[in-house]
Formats: sequence, structure tokens, C-alpha cells
Amino acid sequence: MNKKKMQAILDKIKEYNRIILFRHSRPDGDAIGSTKGLYTILKLTYPKKEIYLQNSDFSDYLSFLGGEDSPIPEELYSDALGIVLDTATAARISNRKYSLCRELIKIDHHIPIESYAPTEWVEEERSSCSEMIAAFYDSNRGELKINTEAATYIYCGMVTDSGRFRFRDVSSETMRLAGVMLSCGIDTDRLFANLYLKDFNNFKFEAYAHGKMKLTENGVAYLFVSRKMQKKFGLSGEDASASVSLMDSIRGSLIWIAFIECDDGSIRVRLRSRFVTVNSLAERYSGGGHACAAGATVHSIAEMKKLVSEADKLLGEYKRANEGWL
Ligand code: AMP
Repeated sequence: MNKKKMQAILDKIKEYNRIILFRHSRPDGDAIGSTKGLYTILKLTYPKKEIYLQNSDFSDYLSFLGGEDSPIPEELYSDALGIVLDTATAARISNRKYSLCRELIKIDHHIPIESYAPTEWVEEERSSCSEMIAAFYDSNRGELKINTEAATYIYCGMVTDSGRFRFRDVSSETMRLAGVMLSCGIDTDRLFANLYLKDFNNFKFEAYAHGKMKLTENGVAYLFVSRKMQKKFGLSGEDASASVSLMDSIRGSLIWIAFIECDDGSIRVRLRSRFVTVNSLAERYSGGGHACAAGATVHSIAEMKKLVSEADKLLGEYKRANEGWL
């Protein structure tokens, strides 16, 4: 645990009267959970400070977690402390005005590709950025206040980013901190209903997608979700993107990839893996992420095929050099 970094961040928070929180674009449960969790803790603890959540894109799937603040005037940024959560690179920060802040802090658990803030607290072995916020609260209980709402945001980020506490970066510390959050009285029935329930159309799409997914020679499973398919089943971009998890339990398929065609013609790539490291493959296609969960972008079917063939080669090499994979 990085006590010194946490102390430096707490000192900065105390120093500023205005604090603006940011996260990555196309937010997931962790991006929203960590920002809204920290936001709520800071608002409770420092009612006299101005605390804002300022981002430019939102998630329908996670709308049950509530909204963010309306845009504030640009001039308010110049004497504010900016805190960016769960975002490895400056290009992925949801609000481009982050650079107007007087000072910037980065809190993140992704593999560090780029340094963009003078104060950075990065722990890539953490299962989520929300876990870091839980640790930040837990280490500063004498100073910081929490309530059920803040704990629910943080817990939501912890469960979603760890695959419901399944992924390998889940540690005894993750579970201890999850316990600290649970002791704040979270309604887990409601939270999991919000996370799991789907519309009937989504089930129909899933049945169709199972028929469309393909497997390469070495076992890379992949699925191309065209705009036509998305229209046919009335899917949002988020619904279409969720299809990556349909391929997550095929025996011997250690890498699985969803390609989502976007409105601008580009293709969003969501890479997932067991045992094999895929973030360096993602980095070759303007992406990045974690060893076993990464994202990228391609711009044509030909480029998609090239990525699939590189993933197939990577998996073939991995299988030849290693034993015990499933
Ligand atoms: P996703 O498939 O979008 O859920 O992304 C999986 C992981 O990779 C997340 O932790 C993302 O933050 C990260 N990621 C996705 N796209 C990019 C990108 N273009 N550059 C860097 N990291 C990314």
C-alpha cells in the first residue's frame, strides 16, 4: 500500500477549495464507481468545498448509479485541483478541459503507459480503481466520512472490474476492503439486479451472436457486431460491446475478441484473455489496458483480420510454450 502517495493526495485535497473529478470516456462500473465514490466522500467530508464531477459521455447501462454535475463555466477550472481516476492515458480522459486545472492528480490501476499528472498514484496490481478509493478511505478514516451511497458506488466498481471477484488481481486486501464497504449497508440485491437484468431483445441478440462467433486454428474466439446487426436487434453501443463476455468460457479459447462497428465506421476492439497477456497486442492497434482485458480500435475489416491473425499467432506460441492452460 502506498501510504505516502495517499497522504500527498489528501494534503492536496485539503489545500484546494475547488476540486474537479474526471474519468475515462466510455465509462465502465469502475470509472463511474471510483469517481462517484470519491466525489461523495469528499462532499460529505468537506461540505464547504466545491466538488464537481465533470465528464462528457455517460453510460446507459450504469444510469442506475445516477448522473453527474452539469458543465461548469470554464473559468472555474483555473484555480481547481483536478483528479483523474481510472484513466491510463490523457487521450482517454472524458473531459478535454482537464488540462485547464491548476494542478492534476492521477489515481489509476492500469498498466502505466503515460504519465500526465505531477502527482500520480498508480498501483497496477489493484483489481480496480474503486479498490484504491476504498483503501484511501480506509487509511484516512480519522479524516474522511463515508455513507451507504458512496460505499455502493465503490463496491459496484470493485465487483464489476474484478469480474465479481474472479480475476487474478483479486487479493485478500480486495476482499477486506470489500468487507469495509459492505459494512456501510449496501443493498446488494438491488445492485446485482441492476447489473444483471437485460431486455428481452438482448437475449435474442445473444442467441444470434452465439451462431455468429468464430474460432481460429489456435483457439481465438471472435465476433464482429456490425451496425446492421445492432440495428436489427435495437442494440445500443454498450449492449453490442457487452457481447465480449459471451465468449469468456470456451475451453481452450484463451483469447476472445469482440469487434463492435461504430457509427463513424471505426471498429471498437475489446480483447479478453485467460493466462495470456494481450495488452501489448492492443497497444499495436492504438489501445492498451490490462494483461487480460484490453481495448483498441481498428478501421477496416482487413485490419480486423490482421489483429485476429496476430492474436492467433500469439495464442499458438503461448500454447506451445506453456502447460496447464484451460
Ligand atoms: P474495454 O474493452 O473497453 O472494457 O477495455 C478493457 C481495458 O482496457 C479497460 O481497462 C480500458 O480502460 C482499457 N482500454 C480500452 N481501450 C483502451 C485504449 N484505447 N487505450 C488504453 N487503454 C484502453
